[in-house]
Amino acid sequence: MKNHKHIKSLRLVLGDQLNIDHSWYQHKDPEVLYLIAELKQETSYVTHHIQKVCAFFAAMEQFANTLAAQGHHVRHLTLDDTAKFKDLPDLLLHTIDELGCEHFEYQRPDEYRLREQMIEFCSGITTQNKEVDSEHFLLPFEEIGDYFTPQKHMRMETFYHKMRRRFKVLVEDNEPVGGRWNFDSENRQTFKQADLKVIPSPLCFTNDVRDILTRLSRNEIKTIGKAASSLLWPISQEQGRELLAYFCQYQLPSFGRFQDAMTCNSEHQWSLYHSRLSFAINAKLIAPHEVIDTAIKAFHESDGEINLAQVEGFIRQILGWREYVRGMYWVNMPNYAIQNELNANRPLPKWFWTGDTKMKCMRAAITQSLDYAYAHHIQRLMITGNFALLAGIKPDEVDQWYLGIYVDAIEWVELPNTRGMALFADGGWIATKPYSASGNYVNKMSDYCKNCEYSVKHKTEDNACPLNSLYWNFIDRHYDKLKQNPRMAFPIKNWEKQNEAEKQNVLSKAQAILSHLDTV
Ligand code: FAD
Ligand code: SF4
Repeated sequence: MKNHKHIKSLRLVLGDQLNIDHSWYQHKDPEVLYLIAELKQETSYVTHHIQKVCAFFAAMEQFANTLAAQGHHVRHLTLDDTAKFKDLPDLLLHTIDELGCEHFEYQRPDEYRLREQMIEFCSGITTQNKEVDSEHFLLPFEEIGDYFTPQKHMRMETFYHKMRRRFKVLVEDNEPVGGRWNFDSENRQTFKQADLKVIPSPLCFTNDVRDILTRLSRNEIKTIGKAASSLLWPISQEQGRELLAYFCQYQLPSFGRFQDAMTCNSEHQWSLYHSRLSFAINAKLIAPHEVIDTAIKAFHESDGEINLAQVEGFIRQILGWREYVRGMYWVNMPNYAIQNELNANRPLPKWFWTGDTKMKCMRAAITQSLDYAYAHHIQRLMITGNFALLAGIKPDEVDQWYLGIYVDAIEWVELPNTRGMALFADGGWIATKPYSASGNYVNKMSDYCKNCEYSVKHKTEDNACPLNSLYWNFIDRHYDKLKQNPRMAFPIKNWEKQNEAEKQNVLSKAQAILSHLDTV
């Protein structure tokens, strides 16, 4: 480590703040030291997928090298270096003391947990300190309160229109290009046999993370998932841009069309037409505005190969959903993290950690998640999420699972998606109704059921698809609440139409399943 006697200012860079275009780096200041540190506290607040930890640590190291190459002073600390510190505040206190820093600065953390830690730390030091913006999101942090109200539903669609108009994205004369805001009705197709043959393989990088794996084992960091010494996730701005270019060329032309489709027939095409950009964007390797601009440029230059429905479907995810869940998170924290509107209280089945279940849909989604630290949105929402909703699994345990297993999982985006969208634990701040489904939905959107030990056509027989009885049990369990929701009128009516004997049959079947969830 170099002698840093002349350093006056310490600036902390967290693992998801790898924004090389941040104004901090526009000037080289010999009196500033950037601190980038692998920390045990960040590897242990939940049990993470090993590829997730490797991706963050490798990207942090790469970022430190890039900053140093640009002529900034950088101190990159590994887990070995920081092992003697209790936590982040302890490390910061020691570093400020050691260097005799007069200033301390940090970028506003996106996670409530870390922001609280930084605020508390700063309130206890005499060194001058300052929080600055991370210069990443499109909606300024200070304006979140203008768009969102605590504990109140806000339609994503309304927010999205405002964002399109505000940032003039696919907007002409204040109206949407093509005359419509939303092309969902043209999207959401399923795969036919011929479609499966032409799904592009995902672009996978080969980043060497052997040293990180050794460090994790030396420091006894508990992880889940399949380790890979060659990491396929992007760890630099260049790789993030390469992934984006690959997406625009090969996947964007069919992105919207197959956005909700699932297949177990795709070992080498496990991410289908999805971009897999979430890690690169969430770690701030690339900016959301760059992703949007690049996709729109590709659309304009594609000679019709990319149509408006595809590009709008993609923009909606970044400019709409991503910014929306971040607003919902901040306006509702810390209250969001304790919501459990449906009083769900069953433990998470053990096979969530292994994929060892007879249900093909769950086995496919979980095994893929353990192999790659990735599942696409509908696998997260309508396979694992739907099961947890129907079975009434404790939101805390579901949150911990999602927060640990996915490479892109950071609480600000994970929590509203899990508690809000998947579990309806917020009672409707995000979703207007629970995203609940029986085996029918899975059968419509995937080929999982054809390869399953259970029969999707049956409800109560020995081999009946567990989702079928669990679905009606869910409707019955929350009947009083759901009856008041006009968007649930159809299933409620269907449940009411069934005779008492049928109902009892289905409910007993569901009870039998719920009583041995670990072996389903
Ligand atoms: P694509 O399908 O290619 O979409 C493009 C981009 O849009 C994504 O990279 C992402 O940045 C953004 N996006 C799409 N949907 C959402 C959404 N609902 N919320 C926020 N951004 C969105 N996303 C995370 O980034 N981290 C999480 O921890 C996370 N947890 C989730 C948990 C549950 C239960 C559910 C239902 C969704 C979760 N999502 C999360 C949202 C979404 O599933 C992922 O962003 C997406 O699957 C990432 O893959 P991709 O990059 O291939 O996305
Ligand atoms: Fe899943 Fe049921 Fe289909 Fe099996 S039959 S894959 S459990 S939906």
